[in-house]
Amino acid sequence: MRESFEIRDTDAGGRIGELTVPRAGTTVETPALLPVINPNLDTISPRRLADEFGAEILITNSYIIHGDDTLHERALEEGLHDLLDFPGAIMTDSGSFQLSEYGEIDVTTEEILDFQREIGSDIATPVDIPTPPDVSHDRAASDLETTQERLEIAEDVDTGEMLVSAPVQGSTYPDLREQAGRHATGTDLDVFPVGAVVPLMNDYRYDDMIEVVAAAKRGLGADAPVHLFGAGHPMMFALAVAAGCDLFDSAAYALYARDDRYLTVRGTRHLADLDYLPCSCAVCTDHSPAELRALPDAERESELAAHNLHVTFAEIRRIKQAIRSGNLLELVEQRARSHPAMLDGYRTLLDHAAQLERSDPVSKGSFFYTSHESARRPEVVRHHRRLERLSVPDSLLLTVDRSAPDAGYDDVWRVQPPFGPFPRALSKTYPLTAETPERTDRAALEAAADGVARLVETSPETSVTLAHRDWPADVLERLPDGVALVDLADEA
Ligand SMILES: [Zn+2]
Repeated sequence: MRESFEIRDTDAGGRIGELTVPRAGTTVETPALLPVINPNLDTISPRRLADEFGAEILITNSYIIHGDDTLHERALEEGLHDLLDFPGAIMTDSGSFQLSEYGEIDVTTEEILDFQREIGSDIATPVDIPTPPDVSHDRAASDLETTQERLEIAEDVDTGEMLVSAPVQGSTYPDLREQAGRHATGTDLDVFPVGAVVPLMNDYRYDDMIEVVAAAKRGLGADAPVHLFGAGHPMMFALAVAAGCDLFDSAAYALYARDDRYLTVRGTRHLADLDYLPCSCAVCTDHSPAELRALPDAERESELAAHNLHVTFAEIRRIKQAIRSGNLLELVEQRARSHPAMLDGYRTLLDHAAQLERSDPVSKGSFFYTSHESARRPEVVRHHRRLERLSVPDSLLLTVDRSAPDAGYDDVWRVQPPFGPFPRALSKTYPLTAETPERTDRAALEAAADGVARLVETSPETSVTLAHRDWPADVLERLPDGVALVDLADEA
């Protein structure tokens, strides 16, 4: 277990954790949002972020401060906390983003870490190489080697109580991301940003983003605090948290406000297109869209930025409550419905259900089957594995009917889509207490059939009869030969 990060609750790959930030003398509850502060223009002041929005941590760019004579001098003299007037924890970025956008930057790892420490940063970042998506494997691997050399240099720099992040790169190559995660977690560095995902999000490639995160997580292991670097749109927070991300930074709230864009958890709207404001924050209850449009530019930008932040922080709170209640994946399912690319992201996440299953609690409130994707949730994967360990009698009737007679069989087990068969003794346990729709769907039937197949394959001595009701022929084809079939619909 890492000293600075403690996990309190989990749901799927998501977790509520506590990140201890010794230099700030504070702990930050995760999932956490770090608003991005540009020291040259604060749309919403850091003090207001703390007082009005409850921000416990923010992030600012040490490279901008380093390169600006006035800010540089003031930061060294007053320290970042006084310079920005922020009482919580302050993370600093190193300028790697500037490197990726504008070419070489002119500081070494030692210099930029020393500088971050001198100005009073609580969590510093070395200069890594953010490799863009889709470059050659050779380039991604060679960039990664440079990043890893710098992380090793960073390990040896005297950083005192300051935490230091270890970015995980590797472009769109899962093997490199996993290797990068394993290397990063092997250093004594503290926080693990998954880097260079902004181009993926800008292109709505949420499926690729999830592949990248899942690979990084396989390398990092469960106890590392993970920062999804540059991810600030509330629409994708639930998905990213379910994949195991703990920290997000948002420049989006301010950048979008500058372009008259209004954030919602279902996507971005342009202020010009809104007839109503679907939000109850102070900005949206005090103004109509027309009133907002009529404000002077600076004021409109500030009001929109405040709304954008309210929505963003509210989504983080909603996600934490969903983790606590054990229904995070149901929230992800709702968010996945807001954009086809989000649905791709969710479906990709479920490709990694076995990986999520490791941190998914054994028991929760209740499982709601709310889309055909629910048939691929970690709970279903776990039940299928459990079937391999159950003791099975010589002859067994599996039936979808709740009140089947047990005539002639050693035992009768219920079959419930999407889980499949289970003995009566488990019927009151999670997830078999699931709420499922009366009108079941093919995905649930297929998953149930796969459960039956798993049971039959691990107990080849047992004679199994399946009493189903009108299951389609191609679903029944998933069953091994030798399963006797009864269609209850024929018997009615
Ligand atoms: Zn609002």
